[in-house]
Amino acid sequence: MPVTITMPRQQAPMDLTHFIPDKMKECDRKIRQKDERIIALETENAMLYLKLAQLQGEVISSREAMGHLKRVMDVEDDTQLRVGRACSQIYQQVQDTKRDLKQLREVVRSIPSKMTFDLTSLQDKAASLSQSLITDNLESKDLRERLEELEEGIKTAEERFTKEKKRRKQLHNTLVELRGNIRVHCRSRPIMARDSRQGSQLEQVVHVIDDENLSVKYNKPGSGATNKMFEFEHVYSPQDVQSDVFEEVQPLLTSLLDGYNVCIMAYGQTGSGKTYTMLGDNYTDLHKDIGEELDMHPSDGVIPRAAVEMFKLIEDKPANSHSLEVSVVEVYNNDIRDLLEPDAGVAKLNLRTADDGSMEIPSLTQRQVESAAEVVGIVQHGMLHRHEDATFVHAHSSRSHLIVTLTVTTYPRGAPTTTPNASRSASPVAELPSPGSFPSRSTRRNMSIPAISFQAISSLSGTQSPISSASGTPVFFPSSQPGVVKTKLQLVDLAGSECVGMSGVTGAALRETSHINRSLSALSDVLAALAEGRSHVPYRNSRLTHLLQDSIGGDAKLLVLCCVSPTQAFATETLQCLGFGTRARQVQRGPTKKRNASGNSSATGSSNIHPSQGGDMSPIAIARNRGHRASIAVTSSGSLLPVPRLLKESHMRHRGSVPNLETQLAQFNAGRRSPRPARPAINRSDSYHK
Ligand code: ADP
Ligand code: MG
Repeated sequence: MPVTITMPRQQAPMDLTHFIPDKMKECDRKIRQKDERIIALETENAMLYLKLAQLQGEVISSREAMGHLKRVMDVEDDTQLRVGRACSQIYQQVQDTKRDLKQLREVVRSIPSKMTFDLTSLQDKAASLSQSLITDNLESKDLRERLEELEEGIKTAEERFTKEKKRRKQLHNTLVELRGNIRVHCRSRPIMARDSRQGSQLEQVVHVIDDENLSVKYNKPGSGATNKMFEFEHVYSPQDVQSDVFEEVQPLLTSLLDGYNVCIMAYGQTGSGKTYTMLGDNYTDLHKDIGEELDMHPSDGVIPRAAVEMFKLIEDKPANSHSLEVSVVEVYNNDIRDLLEPDAGVAKLNLRTADDGSMEIPSLTQRQVESAAEVVGIVQHGMLHRHEDATFVHAHSSRSHLIVTLTVTTYPRGAPTTTPNASRSASPVAELPSPGSFPSRSTRRNMSIPAISFQAISSLSGTQSPISSASGTPVFFPSSQPGVVKTKLQLVDLAGSECVGMSGVTGAALRETSHINRSLSALSDVLAALAEGRSHVPYRNSRLTHLLQDSIGGDAKLLVLCCVSPTQAFATETLQCLGFGTRARQVQRGPTKKRNASGNSSATGSSNIHPSQGGDMSPIAIARNRGHRASIAVTSSGSLLPVPRLLKESHMRHRGSVPNLETQLAQFNAGRRSPRPARPAINRSDSYHK
């Protein structure tokens, strides 16, 4: 519909029909132009954007380049700075070097004159030194001569000291013999882990002072700390080993071949080291290799060492002059049990006095042995059957007294050396070089005697089988035959000496304990009777003392090894043991007398004919019943005769032989030991084993 626009009054109305389309066209054109312009501007704008982006990229890379340049410049600056500093340093050094050089030049310039001066002064010194050297040489020659003189003096003094020491030891031994020949040694064992199980009383109370003295410092309930001193023939410290003990024991074994009976017994409470001392640690080790040569172990005790020593001693004697037999018994509940024939042990063995006055057990197994290994094998075998119980102190508490007896038979020249009641433990005797004789060591090796085996021991028949000679004829050479001497080495591991309370103990344990206490008490009584010189010595009160009669009384040599545990927990038992040892030392007997071929005893110091030489064969032998020896002699047929004159003569012989010795002893020992107090008798009530 056409639009009518009212125009101002002066102008004529316009033809709107063309105007509007024209205007619209105009507008369209303008719009098109504007659009084109817009497109052109947008294009331009895009171009500009591109340009801008390009420029921005350039700006960034320029910035990076600038940063890089800046860094390079920084480095340059730094380098410049360092170079500057280095330059100034170098400059400084150059200056210093110049200065040093200048000083050096001055020093170098001054050296020749200084050296000349030093040389002159050194020459002066050398001249004075060579002068003093000449003087010193003269002096040192003098000194050397004096030193040589002194060394010579020391050597002489040492020789004299050794001689004096030897003499002192000899005199001491003689003194011990004159005192009655009971030696008491004491051994304190080391503190062991097991001691801590005995409660808190772990402090050491036994202190070894020197070779002969020890003290017991202990807390006595009620009276506080107490210190008691004890003196023995020898005291072993906990550090002393088995060989140290044996070194002291060894001389006694020589006496055995000289005709003395010898007894070595270990006394002490359970766990104090008796079995260790006598046998060692390995005695239960039955798999120990026992060859012909015994492989000695450091922990081996007196028994294996004594066995080795005995064979060494015999080897040094004329061939075929000695034979050795072993028996192993225990005294259990006052019965003697043959540990080599444990089954036969049910039937009690009885002691009797043999024709020569010695104690013998007729049916006891005696094994003839030809090497130490055999002895050890036999003892080990015997140990299998010993009575042992586990106690609170010890898993292997011995409830019996073990007695190993080595009997040495000494034959006159030419006599066969097989004893009638000894059984060979191995190889047939037909291989022996001469019937029944004891072959030399080399011969024994060549005979290839097989090492003893336990099967072999256990299969051995009893004791009575005679030994065949090469011809098959039994060889008996009775010990009563003139010239044959038998001596005994009895090695005893006593049962524990502790006083076990009887309360609460019943049955077998009560019986065992009371028998142990009674037999040790009897031992104490025997020593007491000997100390008092009583005419009756109660050997027969116990089988232990009866069995040991030959070697604890009369002319025998007895060594008691008192073994003690070192801690407070055992103080009471330790004191009891040391008390026993002290009383045993006070046993006073006549001088020891050695067994000669006739069975007579001859006083020490008088001329003795060695048994192996045969010699005088008196039909009378001094009875070996020690309690009566002083007044009774026994004929070869066994009847007893009183012989007061014989003894008196013997006593006079002895006294006549020692006055010088007594004087020497008195002089030598003056001041060394305070004289022993009068020997108190061993009081029965003193004894711990009642
Ligand atoms: P006992 O026979 O007196 O009851 P043992 O000889 O069996 O005592 O000793 C008890 C323990 O102490 C054993 O294990 C033994 O090896 C040890 N023993 C004893 N004395 C010594 C010692 N001198 N050195 C080392 N160990 C020892
Ligand atoms: Mg024991």
